[in-house]
Amino acid sequence: MRTAVYPGSFDPFTIGHLDVMKRACETFDLVYVALLNNSAKRPFFSKDERVGFIDAAMAKENVTNYKISSFDGLLVDFVKQVGAGFIVRGLRAVTDFEYEFQINAMNRKLAPDIDTVYFMAEPENLFLSSSIVKEVASYGGSIRGLVPDINEKTIAERLLQR
Ligand code: ADP
Repeated sequence: MRTAVYPGSFDPFTIGHLDVMKRACETFDLVYVALLNNSAKRPFFSKDERVGFIDAAMAKENVTNYKISSFDGLLVDFVKQVGAGFIVRGLRAVTDFEYEFQINAMNRKLAPDIDTVYFMAEPENLFLSSSIVKEVASYGGSIRGLVPDINEKTIAERLLQR
């Protein structure tokens, strides 16, 4: 059984994240979405809200071979704990590459038996990030097509109150 962990803040889950998840779920038997509870990044949406967004979007796609957990320690420890062999990440611009090279070098040093698999962002998602979604929606701009349709209204309403 090939198991992977897709870590991130998912604050909130965008169609870029959804694209990577769908491709990862086709590639692996089981994918753990690992919600980062990093003290350096304080998420706007609660853990339960973020889980709800992911579940709603995945149900719409009829993809079921995934689980969601949160973690706040070292990623490689979480990967070992769930018995996975791979980490999944998405790559957008050059800035993502630089960061991912660094993280990957450290993860390889900490856990040489865990490898990272990268999915290139679709061209239309290259400039899409959770931060952009939060910025636009908090000023009342439309986020249609940036987040899964099923979550659009809830995300927009929550962010307008920001
Ligand atoms: P992090 O704080 O770890 O970057 P994010 O939730 O922002 O968490 O992103 C999680 C993962 O999804 C990262 O690997 C990121 O590069 C990837 N990702 C984010 N947005 C997109 C997108 N539009 N297309 C493809 N991958 C993306």
